[in-house]
Parts: sequence; C-alpha cells; structure tokens
Amino acid sequence: MNLNDKVAVVTGAASGIGKQIARTYFDNGAKVAIADLDLAAAQAAARELDPSGERALAVAMDVTSEEQVEAGIAAVAAKFGGIDVLVSNAGIQIVNPVESFDFGAWKKMLAIHLDGAFLTTRACLKLMYAQGRGGSVIYMGSVHSKEASKLKAPYVTAKHGLVGLAKTVAKEGAAHGVRANVICPGFVRTPLVEKQIPEQARELGISEDEVVKNVMLKDTVDGEFTTVDDVAQTALFLAAFPTNALTGQSIVVSHGWFMQ
Ligand code: NAD
Repeated sequence: MNLNDKVAVVTGAASGIGKQIARTYFDNGAKVAIADLDLAAAQAAARELDPSGERALAVAMDVTSEEQVEAGIAAVAAKFGGIDVLVSNAGIQIVNPVESFDFGAWKKMLAIHLDGAFLTTRACLKLMYAQGRGGSVIYMGSVHSKEASKLKAPYVTAKHGLVGLAKTVAKEGAAHGVRANVICPGFVRTPLVEKQIPEQARELGISEDEVVKNVMLKDTVDGEFTTVDDVAQTALFLAAFPTNALTGQSIVVSHGWFMQ
C-alpha cells in the first residue's frame, strides 16, 4: 500500500499520534500538510520530514475556527493540488467528575473534537467532490468512542459523536468515492496521556503507577500501551484502501482493551 501522488492533511500533527501519521504518510509517498495550533512545532515537524519543503507543509490552524480551517485547507490545496486524505486528529483531554465539570471546559472539549471534525471535513469534502478522484476521511476516535471511563464525560461524548459523523460522511461521500472511518486507539504514551497520569492519580486518590496498571491498562490482553506506530499503520491502511468496501467503520487498536 502506498500514497504516491496523494495529498494528506493531518490536524494536530505537530505532536504525538498525528506527528507519526504524518511521518508514515510521507514515508509512503504522500505530500503532507501538518496543521496545528502550535505553528512553531508544526514547522519543526515539517522541516524534520522534508527540509526542502517540497512534500511537507506546516499550516497554522485552530480547528475550532471556521476562518482558519477554510484558509488552511485552501492553502494546502493550492500548494499541493487538491486533497485526498483528511485525518481529523487534533484533540485535548480535560479530566473532572461530571458534577463539578466546568461548562467552559465542556464547551472547549466539544469544540475541538466535534466542531474541529465538522469544519475540516466540510472544507475537504468540497474539494474532494470537485476533484472527482475520491478520498479518505479518518477521524481519531478512541476506545472512548465505544466505552466510558470516569472523569472524561466530554471526551467520551465527543468521541462517540465522531462515529456518527463518520457514518453520515460515509453515506453522503460514497457517490463521490469518499470513504470515512474512525480509528479508536487505546492508551498511547503521548503528551496528552502523560499529563493525565498525575491528574487521575490526584482525582482517584491512587498512585501514578496504579493509574497506569489498574486504570489505563487494566483491561488490555497484555498490559501494554498502544504505540503511535500502531495507530499510524492503521491510518495508512485506511488512507490507502482502494474501494468503498471499507467505509463507515471504526477500528479499535487497543491491545484488546475493547473487543467489538
Ligand atoms: P498530543 O497532545 O500529543 O497532540 C495533540 C496535538 O493537537 C498537539 O500538537 C496540539 O497542539 C494539537 N491541538 C490541540 N488543540 C488544537 C486545536 N484547537 N487546533 C489544532 N490543533 C490542536 O495528543 P495525542 O495523544 O497525539 O492525541 C491525538 C488524538 O488522538 C486526539 O484526538 C486524542 O483524543 C486521540 N487519542 C489519543 C490517545 C492517547 O492515548 N494518546 C488515545 C485515543 C485517542
């Protein structure tokens, strides 16, 4: 499977899972846009991939801003000649019990995960439909698209919501050869997760080691973290898959934490 001559936009690709997906797409032939809130980190990631700038581009984008998403996607299409793959990956985590969850924090979570997915999808679909060469839209869900955990109400709500969006885009996009799927990783040791370990230890009144063993990895088949590469290989498979046969699905990559 390769992505030769394909153009991919990955949001939140200055760090963690998105960064590895960008690298994997690049290594498999794609032209890659690294869209992130943190422009300096996005520029560094793009330089790491391709110092010449021919096949890697950094784009400043807050995925919750309609204006920035429209401008960013247009800039990618102008530089690389269209868009074939969108990975809507940007995300954050805020943990708190429901009864004391701050309303502003709730809205911020839904905006990044859901508004961001909608805005980037809308901008890319318009281009994909007009280009007439199909496309692949991939949402970064989570085991929390299927399961709940304490303290993560807006995250679980938003990640479940992405499954609905993917199924709708799969139905609407089929006539244009555009597929939509969700990747649902288990815990991956990125900055997003490293930040949660002490926060959850405090909230649950247990040690950080117990958070890892008894909360995060308790239900896996082997006590292992999922890796950025595990997720990136799945993203490559979904991006390169050639037909509408694989659409509207959510694929769980979690060391068996959740089995569907
Ligand atoms: P990360 O913190 O390493 O990277 C997230 C990136 O998103 C950062 O570069 C950040 O600058 C960017 N970002 C944040 N808000 C943004 C915004 N408004 N607009 C544009 N970019 C923004 O996190 P990660 O662990 O790589 O997470 C990536 C995705 O994977 C998220 O959607 C997350 O929910 C999901 N996920 C992570 C795990 C895990 O265990 N790490 C598990 C399942 C799903």
